[in-house]
Order: sequence, then C-alpha cells, then structure tokens
Amino acid sequence: MVRLDATHDLLTRSWVTSANGHTDFPIQNLPIGVFSSADDPRLRGGVAIGDEVLDVSAAVRAGLFTGDALHAATVAGQSTLNAFLAIPSAERVAFRARVFALLADGASERSRCEPLLRHASECVMHLPVTVGDYTDFYAGIHHAMNVGKLFRPDQPLLPNYKHVPIGYHGRSSSIVVSGTDVRRPSGQRKAPADAAPTFGPCRNLDFELELGVWVGAGNAQGTSVAIGAAEEQVAGFCLLNDWSARDIQSWEYQPLGPFLAKSFATSVSAWIVTPEALAPFRIPQPARPDGDPAPLPYLMDAADQQSGALDVELEVLLLTAGARAQQQPPVRISLSNAQHLYWTVAQLIAHHTSNGCNLRPGDLLGTGTISAPTPDGLGSLLEMTQSGRTPIDVGGETRTFLMDGDEVIVRARARRDGYATIGFGDVRGIVYSTTNS
Ligand code: CA
Repeated sequence: MVRLDATHDLLTRSWVTSANGHTDFPIQNLPIGVFSSADDPRLRGGVAIGDEVLDVSAAVRAGLFTGDALHAATVAGQSTLNAFLAIPSAERVAFRARVFALLADGASERSRCEPLLRHASECVMHLPVTVGDYTDFYAGIHHAMNVGKLFRPDQPLLPNYKHVPIGYHGRSSSIVVSGTDVRRPSGQRKAPADAAPTFGPCRNLDFELELGVWVGAGNAQGTSVAIGAAEEQVAGFCLLNDWSARDIQSWEYQPLGPFLAKSFATSVSAWIVTPEALAPFRIPQPARPDGDPAPLPYLMDAADQQSGALDVELEVLLLTAGARAQQQPPVRISLSNAQHLYWTVAQLIAHHTSNGCNLRPGDLLGTGTISAPTPDGLGSLLEMTQSGRTPIDVGGETRTFLMDGDEVIVRARARRDGYATIGFGDVRGIVYSTTNS
C-alpha cells in the first residue's frame, strides 16, 4: 500500500515559483525523466518541478543526498532509469522525501540547488528507460466492447474477456519518446470488398489512448508475482499512444493478433510519474456489473480491489497541419479516465507472471485503450468514426483517420479535493509521410 505522507501536503509550496501555479509538476508530483540541456549534451536524470528540471546527477555530486536517498538519487541521475525503477519502493520514497525537502519553500539548500535547475525550454527529453519488453493489454472494456460491436455485432465481447486479461507482446525497438515524429507505415491492405491485397501507405492510421506502466524489480523466470505483491512491481506510470494502422490490422490480425499494424511506433510521455505521486488518486476498482464472473483467486486481492484503480483524467487533442499553420490551438476530441479499466494494474502483473514469465526492470506494460462509456470519451478514431463511416469535426476540419501533418497529443491530470492536482506532461507526435501514393 502506498502511503500518504508529508510530500502530499497540499499547502507546501516550492521556492521554484512556476511550481505553484497552473502546472503539471507541482512539488507534490516530482516525476523523473532523462534530459540533456543546451549547456550539457550528456543524457542524465532529472526531476520536473514547475517549468524547471532539477539535474539529479549534479545534485548528487553537490552532496545533497545521503543514506537511502543517495543510492536512489545516484541511479535516478543516470542516462537510463532502469536501475532506478528496480530499487525497492522504500528507497524511492526516501528519494522523493529528500527532493521534496530540497525544493520546498524555506529549504536551507535553496542556494545550492538553484544552479542545478535548467529551464524546461532549454532541455531535450529522451526516452527515460531502455525498454526490454513491451506488453500491451486490452483492459479498457468500453473500447473492447465498441470495437467488438464494429466487427462482431452479435458477440461484441469474446467469451474469455471477463475471465482473462487479454494482451499481446508488443515491439520495444520502436518505442519513442514524446515529440518524435511518426512515419505513416506502409503495409498490406485489403478491404473486405477487395479481391486481393495491395501494398502501400496505411490509409486508416489511428491512435490509441493508453496508460503505460513501468515495471520495477521484476521476478525470476519460473516464479510468479502474487496479486498481493504486484503493487511493489509498479515503479511508475506514463502516457502511451499505441499508433495503429487499422487497414493493415484488419487484414493481418487473424489468427495471431496484431503484428505490423502496431510495431512501427509506440509513443510514451517523457516523465515517469511515481506510484507515490499518484497515491492520493487511487480509488476502489469499480464493482463489476451484476452477472459478471468474479476474478479467479490468483487475480483477486481485497486490498487491490479496495484501492487498485486510478482516478486520472485522460484527454486526446488533435492539431491538424492547417490549424498549426494558422497558429490555432489543438482541439480536444476525447476526455476519458483511467478508472474505466476492467482490470487493475496489479491484476495485469499477476496475470502476466502467472505462467512463470519473468518481468524485468523497465519493461513497459500498456493498459489497452481506455475509452469512457460515453461518446465524448472514446480512445481511438476507430471508435469515434465507426471505423471511418462517420467523420468527426476537428476545429472546422473533418477526420475519419489521421492525415499527414496531424499531431496527436495526449494529456492527463489527477485531481482530488484536498490534494494538489498533478499532470503527466504529454505524449505527442506528428504523422509524416515519405511517399505520396
Ligand atoms: Ca493498444
């Protein structure tokens, strides 16, 4: 159980003034990422605070960390954060408490910390983790239902859905950090009416709104993570866009599932939001509707059911090339919430390891597309446009699927009375094409 402590105190302010206003990164958040800066091209770990980034490795060299916090800070300052993700949660908590103390109003170390801040606009964010394995689940039940209705009106949910957390093994090599442009993939496309497939640029390019989970220490092959111990394996969260080529997907996916329709790119947000930062926003897993089966015992834990879900607002915005040229803002096309997941993150981890499969530090889990039950909260264009049949309005333009030049932006915010609102930063990417056919 992640506990609330002084680092969640709403009234604490930071001497970094930008952290006290409208920001994703108040002092109660303190996410970790990997950055380089205009004055130092080396990749190193940093903590976001308001509009600034605290150089953790420089803070270690300056002697600002000791004890449990020193080891955590040392690995948090590295150019890739796998070792940080692997530390026990108690060390992560100690690190958080120390950074909170350094950045809080009245900190005696302020003058030593100030030179270690870099303005975010002078920083380039990098993929924070060397991702060994990436698994994408399908835990958003409204998405599963909506997609099922499109292709199987008589049986939207397959019989296994409410018993087994569905997932597939994704591709880690093509995971990119927010801000990376994404090339429109080519592949085999065949509409049902076509006599034969053709090869060419994807015509039905889509996004998927997901939460990403960064795995902690992991487990040895041949062992399983019990549901009650799964929470300790969650070291962080991010936003994830599972770019999807629907025309390629619909032709290739049977019988073994997604392949080239998904493997060309997956975008993640740059900042690792810790379980500690999200502690105030944990909620009970919503009760299953009457008639739904209870999870099997290996997926059932009373504490997890009591606080294993997350109340995090998720929004998708679209900025078309035309709107960008006219300096228009992006248009919000969806507002969903992480509480619409049918399985908790702990259940996903318990299931993933139930066969003895080993997870390793920095493995990435996608939750699956998180659609709300309402039409204004759908997590993909596939759902919003009924597979391209009903275009949506995007600030005066229409879209069925993504056009070249479109930028997809996913943001998230967690809010609760009595606590500071925290955000995730964003995950964004512009679609480009190298061909005209
Ligand atoms: Ca997905």
